[in-house]
Amino acid sequence: MIIYNATIITWESHNRILKNYGLRITDDKVTEIEESQLLLQKYPEEEKVDAESKLLIPGLICAHTHFYGLFSRGMAIHGDPPADFVEILEKLWWPLDQSLLEEDIYYSALVSIIDAIKHGTTTVFDHHASPNFITGSLDIIEKAVLDTGIRASLCYEVTDRGGVEKAEEGIAENIRMIKKTSAYPKGSTVTAIFGLHAGLTVSDETLRNSQNIPGGYGYHIHVAEHQSDEFHSKNRYGNRVVDRLNDLGITGNNSIFVHGVHLDQKELEIIRDTGTWLTHQPRSNMNNAVGMADVEGALRFGIPVCLGNDGFSFAMWDEWRTCYLAHKLHKKDPRAMPGDLVATMGAINNGKMASNFFKDKIGAIEVGAKADLILVDYKPITEMTAGNLPWHIIFGFRDSMVTHTIVDGKVLMRDKEVLGVNEEEISKRAKEISREVWKRYERQF
Ligand SMILES: [Zn+2]
Repeated sequence: MIIYNATIITWESHNRILKNYGLRITDDKVTEIEESQLLLQKYPEEEKVDAESKLLIPGLICAHTHFYGLFSRGMAIHGDPPADFVEILEKLWWPLDQSLLEEDIYYSALVSIIDAIKHGTTTVFDHHASPNFITGSLDIIEKAVLDTGIRASLCYEVTDRGGVEKAEEGIAENIRMIKKTSAYPKGSTVTAIFGLHAGLTVSDETLRNSQNIPGGYGYHIHVAEHQSDEFHSKNRYGNRVVDRLNDLGITGNNSIFVHGVHLDQKELEIIRDTGTWLTHQPRSNMNNAVGMADVEGALRFGIPVCLGNDGFSFAMWDEWRTCYLAHKLHKKDPRAMPGDLVATMGAINNGKMASNFFKDKIGAIEVGAKADLILVDYKPITEMTAGNLPWHIIFGFRDSMVTHTIVDGKVLMRDKEVLGVNEEEISKRAKEISREVWKRYERQF
């Protein structure tokens, strides 16, 4: 397939903007990048997509999300509003995840993925919980992933809050999925990682039992999201969270630590020196009022911080904008978190992280990279260069400008129509089953 008449944003480490360019996709990869006219002359018989002068850029990547949180949308939290992060877990997320059964898991994933495709997000790292339907839950999510065609990393969040048996069931579910996906051919769109909820809900014994993993797989875990995680670790184990996780073998360049709002300098050093990935989710941090990580400091310290959405919408440029704005307010300094730093996280670092976990070049347009691409109908009204692009994105791009989404060389959305799914039917069924989820949620109080 040839896409021509585009302005290509490459998002290589040294970003370039190529005007009136095109590219050729062969199977799942970008195989040529060339001036439009030359490509058209060279491949007259090939299937073509006229980009109509739109921007052709690598698909967006979400470094941490929760499909399962979807049905919280519009749901009334039982009782008085939660007063802190722990109450948010106790009153909202834990009773909600306990309300999810087979079909709810499928539809929460399916609706979330359609949202991602519409917003040009092509790779996601999901973190799943459904304590009353653990075994097989990752197969259900995988089905939604394969039914739609997105690229996804899956895991089940192991926790001790439901007792030893459920913790063991969660461990088994992760190991099963890791074994299953590791047998897939190289370049597959689905991969798995070992999920853990957070330091404050997993014992040392559970962490030790979580290490029976084949072949170098890492962990996806919330870390120091709220002070309670650090307090709990210090009180119970005499150690800070990251020190404890490092002692138990949870760090490393195949592990993802999420949030890190309350880390100290030594913990940042452990994360950097072990090559552990750190993700930042400012919309979630603001919503939960847990504080703001010193992300600029972590980046300056040499940690390639990435951006996730923590279950918020897959409009990832909203996460970029929030990041840009939130740190300025937090530091009371308009120089804080400049646009290029946001782009470093949201484009470059997310691309590096996805490439690491999917073992293929993802997040950049170059020959040999995976053909995960979007077309964006943005017509700049001022000069747009590789240098000022981040500010065009933050102040000018809207997610509604995404017209085409391509993953692994396959067109998933064409002219804003998501292909191969009946959105109306899916929305109707999701609404029906969400009523039952809400009832199950309420019955727990
Ligand atoms: Zn999360």
